[in-house]
Amino acid sequence: MPQTTSKPLALFGGTFDPVHLGHLSVAWEAAELLDAEVRLLPASVPPHRVPPLASAAQRVAILRAALHGQSRLTLDTRELDRDGPSFTIDTLHELRAEQGERPLVLLLGADAFAGLASWHRWRELFEAAHVGVLSRPGVSADLPDALEREVAGRRIADTASLRALPAGKVIELAVTPLEISATRIRELLAAGRDPRYLLPAGLFDDPALLVPYRR
Ligand code: ATP
Repeated sequence: MPQTTSKPLALFGGTFDPVHLGHLSVAWEAAELLDAEVRLLPASVPPHRVPPLASAAQRVAILRAALHGQSRLTLDTRELDRDGPSFTIDTLHELRAEQGERPLVLLLGADAFAGLASWHRWRELFEAAHVGVLSRPGVSADLPDALEREVAGRRIADTASLRALPAGKVIELAVTPLEISATRIRELLAAGRDPRYLLPAGLFDDPALLVPYRR
């Protein structure tokens, strides 16, 4: 594979139903550790998940409010603009066509990474991007056999070797674990609570943003 030295572009996909400080803090720390641009990519019809509670437009409005005031984390809504299910491999191919040999890094929480072997054309993901695994509380480091075999020869410890290639490596990113999940936030909002310090403060400035989660 050709050598490269440009600033990596990292992609952090998810349902973001809603985005919370667990997502934002690990995305921010990954941006710092990799010295990368990080794009948040909300998924439209997630192939592995039950449908989101909020609509695509509502989740985007929440993301925009959450990202307000900084420029290191940005929003990429291409998966919402596509018809039908959005497969990560298709998104990575699109980004590769746009970004040339720039290193791409698919950021995954440890739970999402452990389930990678169930993803559409999962082995091809390593040809399209590096994978950055973000530590997440309560998730064991053990991987299913097929995934462990695939990643064994790909693991690297330092970000320099990741910057030297467009794709193909796996790096653990030791980010500060925050035990926050969107599931828990939806439960709290449905119960009429205000999880003020689990969500970006700006979301409480506009009560309409959180209406999809209220009962
Ligand atoms: P849900 O509770 O609805 O399953 P979630 O909080 O896991 O949602 P997702 O939108 O499914 O959020 O997650 C998107 C990505 O963010 C996944 O890769 C997931 O592993 C990661 N992630 C979510 N919360 C955290 C957290 N607290 N720390 C590290 N990674 C996280």
